[in-house]
Amino acid sequence: MQRLESMKEFEDRMRVWGAGILRRCFCRAVVNGGSPGPGFGIHSLSDMFQRLEDTFQFCAQCRVLPDQLSDSKILRRCKRCRNVYYCSRECQRADWSVHKKVCWELRLVAIDRLLEWLVVTGDFSLTSGPWPWPPGAVRDWDTWFSMWGAQLDTILESVLGSHTMSTLWDSVGRPRPDPDSLRGSLRRLLTDALSQPLTVGLGLRTLVENTGKLGGITVHVVGASHIETFLASHGAYEELKHMFPESGGLHVVMVGVDLAVESVPQFTSVLPTTPATIQLSSYRGLYHDFWEEQIETGQAVWPDLVAGFHPGFHSSQDLMAGWLPTLLLLRDYEIPTIFTVYSQQELTASLQILMELETQIIAYGDNPFASLKPEQAYTNPNKQPVYCSAYYIMFRGTSHQPDGEEAGGKMDNRI
Ligand SMILES: [Zn+2]
Ligand SMILES: [Zn+2]
Repeated sequence: MQRLESMKEFEDRMRVWGAGILRRCFCRAVVNGGSPGPGFGIHSLSDMFQRLEDTFQFCAQCRVLPDQLSDSKILRRCKRCRNVYYCSRECQRADWSVHKKVCWELRLVAIDRLLEWLVVTGDFSLTSGPWPWPPGAVRDWDTWFSMWGAQLDTILESVLGSHTMSTLWDSVGRPRPDPDSLRGSLRRLLTDALSQPLTVGLGLRTLVENTGKLGGITVHVVGASHIETFLASHGAYEELKHMFPESGGLHVVMVGVDLAVESVPQFTSVLPTTPATIQLSSYRGLYHDFWEEQIETGQAVWPDLVAGFHPGFHSSQDLMAGWLPTLLLLRDYEIPTIFTVYSQQELTASLQILMELETQIIAYGDNPFASLKPEQAYTNPNKQPVYCSAYYIMFRGTSHQPDGEEAGGKMDNRI
């Protein structure tokens, strides 16, 4: 708490970080069959971590909640992962055949969600710095970590030795994990934060021919939410600048209905770009409205690339209805686009939709810059954890032959 000057600042930071906690509170309420409770009124660090932990407290086997137990009973945590709870030995034994498949990964999840606090306090910075290697040599996380080598080790050691790190483990009600586990977690948090900018970079490398063009590069991040703006305001997108040191400047516009516009400057119109810099702005609204209002009126330039993280249009009719105008617009204006999804199943479903829409798929597959931080399904902890942006899809324009060519062909036949 050393660096947090006031309760106000504490609350501000909680609001950003707390979005995740709120979601979990909500999930828990759903498990409970009730509605989410009133605001969380947190007063200390231990209180906050306790509230966070409370959201995980239900028996993973029979779903009983702490207040539904008889007086003599309490929920006990799995000793291996310290992530799931059981009301009795019987429940734990009955659940083991399922839980054992994810126990190891859930152990990592439980550490990661606590260390995320160091990102919020600023004790663990997400920015790296100018790349010491030629950007082309950095193809995936292995090469990215090799590039930073000893320099990164020094940073991790200083975080491990920081006052906030000690305060954190004094406040959480569980023993401090060994240094290797903590280092591993910090590395995963880095991949989680830098996954988005580096995935945008992957899209630019693959789909945009001249990234060094005069006037700079414009990227639109569509369907952006508080996650994108959180990352942007914490400097994660600076990494993109280091990936394209030759660029005439990068302009990234976050467009989405639920983004937190207060953390990223609002989109005004075309801003002049300066070589080797990145400018971020945000627009709250739907992408096709943004397009109509800003691009069609000539106030903003066309994007060189559009990126979307987990758009989710495959998951429901409602989401698909919301995305359809944007998908058609991207297709018809032949905008190079990269989308990411969580799983193989989502990849297949999304590809199918894009093919039905006759978009021209350029590439898809394992994302070399996927987040390596496992994400737990809160209402169903034994579900296999997923990884953000695990797979990508790139498309551009239409797979359909233009009408003119078809007509021309027919004419030729006639002649
Ligand atoms: Zn139980
Ligand atoms: Zn376990």
